[in-house]
Amino acid sequence: MKRILITGGAGFIGSHLCERLLKEGNDVVCLDNFFTGRKVNIAHLMDSPYFEVIRHDVTEPVLLEVDQIYNLACPASPVHYQYNPVKTIKTNVMGALNMLGLAKRVRARILQASTSEVYGNPLVHPQTEDYWGNANPIGPRACYDEGKRCAETLMFAYHRQNGVDIKVVRIFNTYGPRMLENDGRVVSNFIVQALKGSDITVYGDGKQTRSFCYIDDMVDGLIRMMNNDEIVGPVNLGNPGEFTVKELADRVIRLTGSSSRISYKPLPQDDPVQRQPDITIAKKNLGWKPTIELEDGLNRSIEYFSKRIKKSKDTITV
Ligand code: NAD
Ligand code: UDP
Ligand code: UDP
Repeated sequence: MKRILITGGAGFIGSHLCERLLKEGNDVVCLDNFFTGRKVNIAHLMDSPYFEVIRHDVTEPVLLEVDQIYNLACPASPVHYQYNPVKTIKTNVMGALNMLGLAKRVRARILQASTSEVYGNPLVHPQTEDYWGNANPIGPRACYDEGKRCAETLMFAYHRQNGVDIKVVRIFNTYGPRMLENDGRVVSNFIVQALKGSDITVYGDGKQTRSFCYIDDMVDGLIRMMNNDEIVGPVNLGNPGEFTVKELADRVIRLTGSSSRISYKPLPQDDPVQRQPDITIAKKNLGWKPTIELEDGLNRSIEYFSKRIKKSKDTITV
């Protein structure tokens, strides 16, 4: 049995990871400050004697004894990470520093959740791990992009200088149940708008592309990387299926049978024009590739959000 720390464990990806690692017989410690995470995401795990929750902010040091650390703490939606940009930088940089200090002290293996945003508005397509990116260091997304880039730098510095056992993954757009209804990210926004019959807000002309990975595939990739003894990364994890935002809107309208209409809104500054992961390394070294098609994943997410919307009408949820 391994003792595993998941920072950001009450969030979207973190809660699925807690659930899966617990199911696989590990002792799981979930650390979260509940900025975008929710107790309801992990409430069903609370009865297990092998599950603990610590309300803590990763920008502050913490003393724990663990074998593995998944460092996921950081708001992932542009709306949330731009709400307090200075805090986003602190979370990424001081959070990574503290978790690396912890990993160094207890000789734990640490996996950093990095992002496709390190490629900025990419000039190489699809994005390969050896591409250094095209990120604006002073724009509104910089707190997240540069914060994550610095976290990667810290990971490699601790690895070279102190021999810390690191793993770096670059996560591409991931979606599924337990995203916040008001998260601001495109999949949750479109599904919630379609289910409520409100306008679907497409930013810009909707021709920008993204590649959407379903949560179960992502969790599988993260665990495979953590337990791989050959590579440190960075490794892209994402679904190479590439869609325009307009295509996504049309698909959500069709799958929900909604009468919602598309309403075009201004494109946010520095919104990447195209994004698609090259997952050759993940396939070769981790034996990993996504298995859940967009349509299937959207249907599962629609089912979750329908229930959630119905429930929030009757009760106050946490
Ligand atoms: P999320 O917002 O649902 O989860 C983030 C969690 O971190 C939340 O539970 C939040 O409360 C917690 N948190 C934030 N700041 C904290 C702090 N200072 N101290 C402690 N906890 C803190 O987002 P997510 O989609 O689950 O993303 C998880 C990780 O994966 C993030 O690091 C994100 O950057 C990365 N990532 C996600 C995606 C995606 O598409 N979902 C893409 C690329 C990278
Ligand atoms: N740290 C932590 N938990 C630990 C060990 C370290 O939170 O178990 C923090 C520590 O407080 C410091 C950071 O991690 O802020 C980096 O630690 P390191 O030992 O590398 O650097 P130093 O403490 O020498 O600055
Ligand atoms: N987007 C959109 N309508 C929305 C939310 C997002 O058209 O209601 C667009 C956004 O401009 C971007 C894409 O969808 O081009 C993905 O946005 P998201 O915030 O989900 O993730 P990121 O931009 O970080 O990939």
